This record gives sequence, C-alpha cells and structure tokens, in this order.
Amino acid sequence: MLLLCSLSLPTLAAEFPADFGVHKVTIDPGHGAPGNPGNENCTCAEEEDEMLRVAVELRDHLVATGHFDVHMAREGEATPEYWPRVNAAAAYGSEAFLSLHSDTRAQATEVDGCSTNTEHPGFSVLYSDEPEDRERRAGLGRAVSDAMAAQGFTPYSGADYGQAYDADPTAGVFIDRRGLLMLRRPTMPSVIIETHHAWAPDEVAAWQTTETLDRFEEAVTVALIAFLTVDEASTAEAPHPPPPPDP
Ligand SMILES: [Zn+2]
Repeated sequence: MLLLCSLSLPTLAAEFPADFGVHKVTIDPGHGAPGNPGNENCTCAEEEDEMLRVAVELRDHLVATGHFDVHMAREGEATPEYWPRVNAAAAYGSEAFLSLHSDTRAQATEVDGCSTNTEHPGFSVLYSDEPEDRERRAGLGRAVSDAMAAQGFTPYSGADYGQAYDADPTAGVFIDRRGLLMLRRPTMPSVIIETHHAWAPDEVAAWQTTETLDRFEEAVTVALIAFLTVDEASTAEAPHPPPPPDP
C-alpha cells in the first residue's frame, strides 16, 4: 500500500491521558483595550483583530477536544482593560493563561504604506520569573515552545530583544524584563505567545492559512496536556508544600 502523506508533515493527534479530565484555561487575544490596538502588520491589519481571529479558532479547537473549558479574556466588540481580564481569569478558575500576540522586530521598511521587515522570523514565548510560581510559569512557557517547534514553527533567536527579555535555556523562550502585567499578575501560570513577526510577509501570509492555525492549535493542545499532567503529578507528590519564608 502506498503512503501518500508526506513524512515531513507533523502529526495532528494530541493524545490525552485517560484520566486527564476537563481543565479550565483562559485565552487572552492580545490588545483590544481602549486606545491599544497593538501593532499594524505588513498588510496594515491591526494586532487586536489578528489575535482575536487566532484566539477564536484556538478556543474552538480546545473546546472541541472535550477536555477544556475556555474563558476568552475578550470577545467580539468588547474592549476590556487588562486588570479585569486578570481578575476574570481567576474568577473562572483558570489553570493557565495564554495571551496571544504578534511581534514587531528591528526596523521596518514601508512597502505599499505598511511596515515590512523580512528578517527576525519566528515565534517566541515570554514568561515572568518573579519568585512566586516561577517554575510553573517556566514550565508552561517551555511546553508551548517545545510543542510549537515540534509542529514546525521556528523559534525566534531573540536577536532584537536587547534588554527587554533574557533568553531561557529552551529555544524560543524568553524571560520578561519589562514587568508586563499579563505575565506578573495572573494568579495562575501565564505566558505571552508572540505567534510570529507581524512585519514579515511570509509569516503573516502563513498565519492566514488553516494549515498554520491547525498546527498552532495542535501545539497548544500538546503543551497544555504536558503542563497540566506534570502539574498534577507534582501536586500529588507534595500536597502540603511548606509555607514560603517571611521576606
Ligand atoms: Zn502585542
């Protein structure tokens, strides 16, 4: 029998442990707060609209697995501020907070009235290493990056990040040095996923396709399975962690 599928195509079949159950997560489509539409990409589309599009597809995919209840930090025409998003994620009982963004890197050249830069491709995942929950945040970030790389996405080198972020040992993962609210304030582990370089025409074109969105959705699913499974194992082993020392 002939196998016609390409061996280079990643598999799209996240496997859930039998006892995985149903977990609650929050997806935050980046920006969309009053006066904060985010970047304009190389087609002049605004980040708030692009990320809402990606977030809705991701939500639908996660819910369709039957293993996730998903809270959207914003939806439709709503323009909530950031603190209410953080509080709503906690009230929902979210176990992970995923904020979706696209990056703008280095200097842009104007092409047809929009900003373009063909260098600095790839995704990055950002987390905060402030002491509280540092290992779980790092674990979520590394799980997302590993799963995206496994789906064929390119980890960004970080060449243009300067002082803003420090590189984590895992490729594509960076530690926030800007004190970003969405990384420091959620009471559950949170990451920002810079899905692609918004000024890079090939990446922007790819993120319009179902094929790319499918691979991203699969990657996030795999990452959440890994993160939440490890999380439960470590919780089970240490049900009564010692209280932190007084500062
Ligand atoms: Zn952004």
